[in-house]
Parts: sequence; structure tokens; C-alpha cells
Amino acid sequence: MNPPTTPDVLVVGGGIGGLAAAFALARKGLGVRVLERAKEFGEVGAGLQLAPNCTRILADYGLLDEARELGVVPAGMVMRDALDARELTRLDLRDLERRYGYPYLVIHRSDLHGIFLRACRRAGVELLTDRTVVDYEHTEHGARVVLEDGSAEHAPLVIAADGLHSVARRKLVGDEVVSSDYVAYRAAVPIERVRENGIAEHDVTVYVGPRCHFVQYALRGGEMFNQVAVFESPKAKAGEADWGTPDELDAAFEATCDTVRTGIPLMWRDRWWQMMDRDPVETWVHGRIALLGDAAHPPLQYMAQGAIMAIEDGWVLAEHVARLTDEGELPPWDAALAAYEAVRVEHCRRVQSTARAWGELWHLDGEARLQRNAVLRGRAVDDYAFTDWIYGPTALTPDQEPPMFTPVPLAGARPEEPAR
Ligand code: FAD
Repeated sequence: MNPPTTPDVLVVGGGIGGLAAAFALARKGLGVRVLERAKEFGEVGAGLQLAPNCTRILADYGLLDEARELGVVPAGMVMRDALDARELTRLDLRDLERRYGYPYLVIHRSDLHGIFLRACRRAGVELLTDRTVVDYEHTEHGARVVLEDGSAEHAPLVIAADGLHSVARRKLVGDEVVSSDYVAYRAAVPIERVRENGIAEHDVTVYVGPRCHFVQYALRGGEMFNQVAVFESPKAKAGEADWGTPDELDAAFEATCDTVRTGIPLMWRDRWWQMMDRDPVETWVHGRIALLGDAAHPPLQYMAQGAIMAIEDGWVLAEHVARLTDEGELPPWDAALAAYEAVRVEHCRRVQSTARAWGELWHLDGEARLQRNAVLRGRAVDDYAFTDWIYGPTALTPDQEPPMFTPVPLAGARPEEPAR
């Protein structure tokens, strides 16, 4: 049975993106209802990295202290070669916190999800589970969603935060997901199980190797250790339907250094994540239906910005709704949605395309790998040219969006056009 009242906003999907958007709008005084397909709210997976562009928003929401308590603030982010374990480059995360004003922290997905779930409850968001949305329709004053049981709900604004395989995206955009032929295995284990493996307990470490990489960091106040193993699947390259299986995991990391190899047997083997994204699209707003989070801009995870972008989306939309609404008046939804789309589409396009390029760089082999290593080793530890455009304050308008890093031109050469 549907609740009797019509909310201001219906949010489809109660993942991190949907809950964060619901909270952002509810704290501005709007009535928000979340429709989640699963029987219970929750998150599958292990750790998440939250860069300062996200922790800045958590601070604005009054949720940063809770996130700090449940997570870990690592000392450094270190990239190493997966074959010989040599350090390639490093970010000093304490210095990074001074530069951007907010910490870089890592947290269990379910802890971050729980933080938003509790915040939504406190803010009065209606949280409904076991509601699968199968269709979306435009109405005269908003939009309608049709549920699997044949019932329907409507609101002046519908946010589709239903993830990579979004029903709304299929209906409104109609594009296909793009397979990278890479697959991720995850694990979060008690830290005692890995202490003898040569781990760097206080760092986020990324080992980059030919067609594979391996990520490690501590979670839950340092009690747990998170590992992500990612590799290119030969079966996927050969066009086989069943790809990314555990036998491929073992083979992919055979030639890697000791710390990586000793981590592989600890990976969960009953579940793996085939890595897919979508080509960026320019239109996320269709009438009063707005795509948000992975439904709008699913990235490959190499920039660790997917959940962050989803959280930024909700913050930006809510800021515009509040800014444009006169006291006692209904929000000018179309203007707020236009402002949301104007700034978020280009930022997320940059992250999506940079993530693809980043993946190629990480997975180089042969001479190209050696050249990459030489370039990365030459980077000064305090060179933030590659991170300012991501970790700085989230832009509310296109003119606030910082330029991406552009290489220093050679003497006499014409300056390059900024990357688009
Ligand atoms: P989802 O998490 O997919 O949530 C969608 C929700 O909608 C789900 O609850 C689902 O049940 C519900 N739903 C779906 N269909 C329907 C329907 N028809 N009706 C009702 N409900 C529906 N991001 C980071 O920021 N930092 C990281 O370090 C990071 N690491 C990653 C590591 C890996 C290996 C991977 C795979 C991803 C990583 N990401 C990271 C990306 C991040 O996980 C995603 O971008 C983020 O979770 C997307 O959130 P979302 O809420 O948009 O979508």
C-alpha cells in the first residue's frame, strides 16, 4: 500500500547516491520519499576512499565526525609497481588535508551507507524498501513511477539513483553499458591476517602492473584490512560469457611481487565485479526526471570518485533548489534542474574519461611500463597539479569548475588547448 501523501521528491534507489540526495533535499525542508528495490537497505562490498571533495560535503552535513570515527585517515597514498614493488609516487595525505582543508579518509561502504541512512531518518525522509520501479512517465506537474506490483507514485521531481543498470537510463537515454573486460575481487579481513604480508598498515597502497592492479588499506579504525584485486580477463577478451572467474584471478597475479601474491588467496571468491562504465551523455534531466549517481555517470573506479560524484550531485541539486526557492513558494524545479545539469555533466564527463585513461596507464606492460614508472618517479610529492581540479570545492556553477591539469608547454611551442 502506498503512503497517502505526495512527497516533493521521489528518489528511486537507496544506495549511497540516492540516500545522500534524499538527505540533502530533506535538510532543505523538502518532503522526500525513497523507493528501494531490495528488501533491506544496505551495501555490498568493502572499502571506499573519500577524497576531500567529499569530506568537505560531509562536514557541511555535520556527518564528518561520524565518518572519521568509523573510518581511517591514512598517512599516505602510495603507488608501487606490482612486479618489483618499487615506489613510483606518493601523496602525503596530511599535507593534502592542509591543502584542501578536509581529510582523505577510507571507510567501509556499509558504514558510509549507514551514516546516510541514519541522517535520512533524522531528517524525516520516508524510506521504503521492497519497491521495484519498472517504468517512468512524465505528468503535467512532475513525473510518475510505476512499480512492479502495478501501483504508481508521483511527485513534482523524480530522481533516478538506480545505479549502473538504471531502468530510467534505459528508458530516457537508451545506451548500453561498456565492458572494460576487467574484473574486481574484493576482501575485507581482520588486520591480523595480513600483518606478516609486508603491508603498509597506515597507507593506501596501489600496486600497478601489466593488465592488473591491487589496492590495500586499513578500515574500521585499523581493525580490518581492505584489498581490491583487479585484472583483465582473458575469457572476456575471447568473448566468453562466463568471465572473471577465480581461476583467472590466480593466473593474473602469478608474476607479481610477494606482498601482492600473498594477498590474493584472501580475496572473496564467491562474488566478483565485472568492471563496466558508460559513455558520458550530456542530458541527465528529462522533464522532471533527473538521473543521479551511477545512473547518470558510472565511471571505471580508477579515480575512486564514483560514490563521491553521486554525493556531490545531491549536494549541488539541493543547494540550487534552496538558492532559487523564495520563502513560502514552491521550488522552481526546472530552474534548479537546469543549474544542476549545467555544472555536473561536464565535471563527471571529465572524471569518467580520466578514469578510463588512468586505467590504461596503470596497466601498461613492457617499455611503456618502464617509461610510466620513470615519469611517476619524477613527480614531486607536493605537486598537486593533477588533483586540484578534483579535490577542490565542488563547483555549483560552470565558471567555478577549475581547469584540468594541462602540461607546461615546451619553450617556443603554442600552449595546448585545455583538455575537453
Ligand atoms: P548504486 O550503489 O548502484 O545504488 C543503486 C540503488 O538503486 C541500489 O540500492 C539498488 O538496489 C537500487 N535500485 C536499482 N534498480 C532499482 C529499481 N528498479 N527500483 C528501485 N531501486 C532500484 N567510489 C568512490 O567514490 N570511492 C571509491 O573508493 C570507490 N571504489 C570502488 C571500487 C570498486 C571495485 C567499484 C566497483 C566501485 C567503486 N566506487 C568507488 C564506485 C561506487 O561504488 C559507485 O559509483 C557508487 O556506489 C554508486 O552509487 P549509486 O547510489 O549511484 O548506485
